[in-house]
Amino acid sequence: QKSSKCSNHSSTAAAQIHLLLSQFRQASATPLHRLRQLADAMTAEMHSGLMSEGGSEQLKMLPTYVENLPHGDEEGLFYAVDLGGTNFRVLRVQLGGKEKRIVKQEYQEVAIPPELMQGTSKELFDFIAKKLASFVAREGEGFEAHSGHVRELGFAFSFPVLQTSVKSGILVHWTKGFKISDAIGKDIVAAFEEAIGRKGDHIRVAALVNDTVGTLAGGRYWNEDTMLSVILGTGTNACYIEQVDAVPKWRGAPPKSGEVIINMEWGNFRSPYLPRTFADEEVDIDSVNPGDQWFEKMISGMYLGEIVRCVLAKFAQEAALFGGPIISPKLLEPFSLGTPYVSKIHSDESADLTEVARILKDVFEIRRTTFQERKIVHDICDIIAERGARLAAAGIVGILNKIGRDHGPTATNGSYLSSRRSKTVVAMDGGLYEHYTQYQVYMRAAIDEMLSETAAQSVVIELSKDGSGIGTALLAASHSQYHTF
Ligand code: BGC
Ligand code: MG
Repeated sequence: QKSSKCSNHSSTAAAQIHLLLSQFRQASATPLHRLRQLADAMTAEMHSGLMSEGGSEQLKMLPTYVENLPHGDEEGLFYAVDLGGTNFRVLRVQLGGKEKRIVKQEYQEVAIPPELMQGTSKELFDFIAKKLASFVAREGEGFEAHSGHVRELGFAFSFPVLQTSVKSGILVHWTKGFKISDAIGKDIVAAFEEAIGRKGDHIRVAALVNDTVGTLAGGRYWNEDTMLSVILGTGTNACYIEQVDAVPKWRGAPPKSGEVIINMEWGNFRSPYLPRTFADEEVDIDSVNPGDQWFEKMISGMYLGEIVRCVLAKFAQEAALFGGPIISPKLLEPFSLGTPYVSKIHSDESADLTEVARILKDVFEIRRTTFQERKIVHDICDIIAERGARLAAAGIVGILNKIGRDHGPTATNGSYLSSRRSKTVVAMDGGLYEHYTQYQVYMRAAIDEMLSETAAQSVVIELSKDGSGIGTALLAASHSQYHTF
C-alpha cells in the first residue's frame, strides 16, 4: 500500500495504467464481425493455397499422401516417434483388431536439450535414434511383433514438410524455436533412417506425418465423424479432409477415395483483420523466425506467456506498474513467463489473488504488489487468452465453411474418408488446449457465436490426449508394408 505522501503520484499512475489497459483491450478486441471476416479470409486463403504446389504465401495447404485412415481392424505391434514441441515422445502400441482395439500401449517422453534445437540435423536425429533404440530394447511382455518382420514406425514430425509420398518429405522451414539450417530442403525420413542405421536397428518408417494428421487418424480410429483436427500446443495447426477435385495442384493419380488430407500449416495465416498489438510486434521481432507464423504467435502456447510479459513490461516502464521506476530484470527477460503461468493466473479466483502474487514473486521477483496491480495482471491474461481462443475458433469456422459443414447436418452421401453422419468432429490435441480450461471455454463460445444453433450443435470438439502419438502409430499400421487391414 502506498503511503499518503505518494497518493497524488499514485493516483495519476493508476489513471495512466487504466488508460493503457483500456487501449490494449480495444486493440485486442475480436467482436463477432471481426471473427466472421477472419473466418472468410481463412476460407479464401485455403482456396488459393490449394492452387499452386508450395501453397499461397500464407497457407501451404500441403497434401499428405495418407490414403488409409485407421478404422479399427489394424493388428500387431507398431511404434511412433512424435517430434515437434518442447518434448518428444516414443511410443509402442499393440493393436488387437476390431474387438480388442488397443491392447497395450507404453510411451516415454524426453525433453529435447535446447542446444539440439539449434544444432545440426545429425545431432538431432542421432539423439532421437538413440532414445528410440533404448526404448525398443525394453519391449516387454504383452508386445508382440510379427516374427521376422522389421519393426514399423510412424514418424510425426510437426513442421511444414513438402511430401511426395507417405514415406518421404522435404522440410520447408522450421517453426517453434527450432533452427537447424542444414535440415532445410532435406528428406526427413532419409535423415532419420540414416541415424537409425548408424545405431544398427531394424526399424523402418512406414509413414511420415504432421502431428495434425496423426491426431486426425487417432480421432478417426474411435469416431468416424472426425473430419478435421487442430493442434493447440507449443505451436498450432490444422488439417482436414478435402475432395481431390478441389485441389488443382494435386499431381498424379487420383486417390481411390477421391479425397486427400491437407495439412494447412495455418500458423502462418495473416490478415489485416488480425488484432495485432505492439506486443505481437515485439514477440515477432525477437523470435527466431521474424515475419513468419503470425497466427501461431497470437494463439499458441509458446507465445501467450511472452505476449503477457511484453505487455507487463510496457506497463511497468510507461506507467510504473509494480511501483517503478526500478524494473525487475526478470520482467525484461524474453520468455521468462511460461504459458502455464498465464493459465494459473487466469484461474486464480481467490479474493485477494494470492496465486497471482505468488507467481509475480516466483517468476519476476516482484515481492510486493497491490491488489489493483494483481487485478491488472489477471485482466491482461484474460484479454490475451480470450483473443487467442477466439482467433483459433475463427480458423475452425473457416475450415467448416470450406468443407460445407458450417450449416449443420449435411445431406451429402459421404464417401470413403468423409463421414456420412450428422456430426462433424474436430479432433483436438495439444497441451495449451488440454490444460487451459478458460481457453477451451472461450473457444467454444466463439464457435457457438459464429454458427447457427443447429450448426453449432453438430460441431463436436474431442480432446484426444496424445492423439497425435497414438494416431501416428495407427498410421504406421494402416500403411504397413507387411499387413493389409
Ligand atoms: C508447425 C506445424 C505443427 C504445429 C503444431 C507449427 O509450428 O508448423 O507443422 O503442426 O506447429 O505442432
Ligand atoms: Mg505434440
